[in-house]
Amino acid sequence: MDEGIWERKYHLALERMERDEEASRAVGDVLRRLSLRLAVLVRGDGGELDELLDRLTTELRGSPSPATVEPLLERLAEAVTRLDAAPPGAARASDTTEDALVDALRADVARLQELLGTVSARLGDMTRYLAGERDEADAGATEGHRLDAQVREEMRLLGEKTQAATDLASLQAEVDERLSVIDRHFRDFREREDARLSAYRERAERMHDRLEQLESQASSLQDSLRREHELALTDGLTGLPNRLAYDRRVADVERQVREEGGVACVGAFDIDHFKAINDTYGHAAGDAVLRIVGQTLARELDGRAFVARYGGEEFVVLFSDMGPDDAEDLARRLCATVEKLAFHASSKPVTVTMSGGLTRFTAAERAAAVFDRADRALYAAKRAGRNCCVVL
Ligand code: GH3
Ligand code: MG
Ligand code: MG
Repeated sequence: MDEGIWERKYHLALERMERDEEASRAVGDVLRRLSLRLAVLVRGDGGELDELLDRLTTELRGSPSPATVEPLLERLAEAVTRLDAAPPGAARASDTTEDALVDALRADVARLQELLGTVSARLGDMTRYLAGERDEADAGATEGHRLDAQVREEMRLLGEKTQAATDLASLQAEVDERLSVIDRHFRDFREREDARLSAYRERAERMHDRLEQLESQASSLQDSLRREHELALTDGLTGLPNRLAYDRRVADVERQVREEGGVACVGAFDIDHFKAINDTYGHAAGDAVLRIVGQTLARELDGRAFVARYGGEEFVVLFSDMGPDDAEDLARRLCATVEKLAFHASSKPVTVTMSGGLTRFTAAERAAAVFDRADRALYAAKRAGRNCCVVL
């Protein structure tokens, strides 16, 4: 062959080689892009496979050479074989992703449950507090209704917002905000209630003080009434019961004698020549005699009979549960004791004597009639010479 033929053949071979090279480059390019897509698609095990795929995609994006790509492909093939040979229970890439999703969902549900638990606990607290407060006072009901309306409004808003909430975080934010508002209303309510209650307490304390004041006033009024009563029944000069006291006591005795068949006597006593004492030693001396005689009678009787100053220088003795004999003995002793009084006026001894008239209290007889008879007996004693007792 001549040189021209060889040269043509050489050029033809060169052109074919260039075409082959071009075609193989085009095929290589398609394969590279396909590998890239596949590598991206199968990623997700989070382990060795992903790492190898990462490196492969990096290589494929650059200008891959068989020297770098082939070992990677070999390792990938081994990794895939190992993955396929893994026991059925072992997690695969897709299982892990599902588990993570389920875990995240569970966490969301737990948060939601916790949130709803807090909401219901706080609302429960408020309801209990309101129920307790309302029982305490009717006036609190108005405040309670106000809070009720506020809470209801917040709950309505909460309902609306939670309907509109698209994810858990915004739902939680809405619930938190509404709860804070409810909490604020609740705190305001408690402050108002506390103020109202402390005002009540203050008023109750003032009323209590006033009541104590009134009670002490009533008790001192009662004391003074008792004193007045005692004074009304007491003779101011001698300290003995007075005629009014005698009238009351004798009414009891009268009833006892009439209804229960009791025994009693009445004695009327009068100081002898008392006018002369007044005239001789003065009215003050006369008063002193009245006092001493009155005290002497009370001391001598020592509770065995009731004695009263009947008026002037006259005394009356009510011998309850005592027959005429014992009463007469006692009456005479009274006169004898008065006679023995060592009374002095203007430093001079003054003899004071007393006369007495005694009578028995009979059934169906009025006290006044009995006294009249005792008085008649007294005058009989006066007529008999004084300083003696007469029984009638
Ligand atoms: P008789 O023995 O008959 O009883 O004579 P009498 O002087 O005691 O009786 P009379 O009724 O004549 O006088 C009683 C006097 O007592 C008259 C009156 O001024 C006086 N008198 C009455 N009450 C009081 C008093 O409270 N104080 C003083 N000092 N004198 C009184
Ligand atoms: Mg007299
Ligand atoms: Mg008299």
